[in-house]
Amino acid sequence: MPDNGSATRPLRVAIIGSGPSGLYAAEALTRHDDVEVSIDVFDRLPAPFGLARYGVAPDHLALRSVRNALETVLDDPAVRLLANVEVGTDISVEELHRFYDAIVFTYGAATDQRLEIRGEDLDGAISATELVNWYCGHPDAAGERVEAAISAATSAVVIGVGNVAVDVTRVLSKTAPELDHTDMPQHVLDLLAATSITSVTVLGRRGPAQAAFTTKELKELGELADADVLVDAHDLALDPVSEADIEGERRRERNLEVLEEWSTRTPARGRRTIRLRFFSQPVEIVGPDRVTGVRVERTRLDADGSLRGTGEYTTIDADLVVRSVGYQGMPLAGVPFDEARGVIPHDEGRVLDDDTVVPGEYVAGWIKRGPTGIIGTNKKDATATVRSLIADAAQLPRADQPDPDAVTAHLEQQGVRYVTIDGWRAIDAAEIALGESRGRPRTTLHEREALLESARRGVRG
Ligand code: NAP
Repeated sequence: MPDNGSATRPLRVAIIGSGPSGLYAAEALTRHDDVEVSIDVFDRLPAPFGLARYGVAPDHLALRSVRNALETVLDDPAVRLLANVEVGTDISVEELHRFYDAIVFTYGAATDQRLEIRGEDLDGAISATELVNWYCGHPDAAGERVEAAISAATSAVVIGVGNVAVDVTRVLSKTAPELDHTDMPQHVLDLLAATSITSVTVLGRRGPAQAAFTTKELKELGELADADVLVDAHDLALDPVSEADIEGERRRERNLEVLEEWSTRTPARGRRTIRLRFFSQPVEIVGPDRVTGVRVERTRLDADGSLRGTGEYTTIDADLVVRSVGYQGMPLAGVPFDEARGVIPHDEGRVLDDDTVVPGEYVAGWIKRGPTGIIGTNKKDATATVRSLIADAAQLPRADQPDPDAVTAHLEQQGVRYVTIDGWRAIDAAEIALGESRGRPRTTLHEREALLESARRGVRG
């Protein structure tokens, strides 16, 4: 057997993306006692954790604490963080093969799906990804666009009935005290506290039985300090397809129970409202240059479950529209890509190019299976991919320059300011200190330069 994976010549693995799937893959690799590994985890952003930092809603503190578990993976001496390195720009996949025996792509699905309807790019129409990036303090957030959309808004329409739609609806509907303990940047908290949004309408193009949200997340909408949830009982009448969809599906049954209870409620005067509307397909975002409403067509389900327009149109007044219709994976130069599905094709985690395995390339997480599932889903997924990698270990083509210093020397030559775990710890400490100065556990640093400066200062000591 070649000495790949021994103490003298550990298996060199690059993981591209430090979100949950990347770090779960690193963890799974370090747990294989029979193969010695030396892992570099790359991230294009200066701070690690991907969607655990820039996707999980800041008011979901328990879910966000998954970062603590992920961070322990970075403490393992076999795992090195190389953040602020964009694979495809700062270093190519071809170059990576010089330094690593295996590459695991776990860079997720960072872009959003579009509706492809008229008016989608009007001022006041934004994507959930833009909004979430902004309130999570993502360094590349389209801050000005989002702030212009939100600050002038009084009534919002959220398109889509997945958990992201629920997240953005909840954040837009919470009062300042309900958000004050979060790690959102101060300018985000200030703007959300000053918002005049008093109504949010959430649109599902199919029925409540087909909604993608989970019951726990849905129920939270009914627990807000200053918002009442409204559901039209007419939308909850079940057609035969919906009856069949619900049958034995506990999540769907429970969703229906929650919605039915809400449909009996009468809103209190003066409180904000969240209205859930089903069988409502947006056909146009209306407005001369800024959004004034969303034109929707009433829909129904055919006997085979397919969606049909009824020809009945209404326009919902709105000055903010947030489309939340799913994420979209993007290709990476030099890596096979399935354009139709937005994923890297694979066989049990081994990257496929025209049905042929690409030696030394693997994939896990959303860029492997599409943007579905909860954080925990990625653990199972990453572990399955690592199983394939470990099974292949002895046969993998060997890197020419496996010395860990070789890749960092290359990055330095290219002028890339990579951030290691020491840099991240300094960012972490700076965020905690900033939060404490305002009576909060943490405040996210949202500017790339501020993140890099904190990282540099920490490393210099
Ligand atoms: P999602 O769950 O796939 O939901 C997308 C929604 O958009 C669906 O309701 C879908 O309706 C709708 N949609 C798609 N195309 C549309 C169109 N052209 N017009 C109108 N509606 C359209 O996606 P997501 O909300 O972005 O969430 C992604 C993943 O992250 C999910 O697995 C989610 O559970 C997870 N997540 C979890 C949490 C949490 O656990 N707290 C929080 C956030 C996200 P159809 O079903 O009719 O296509």
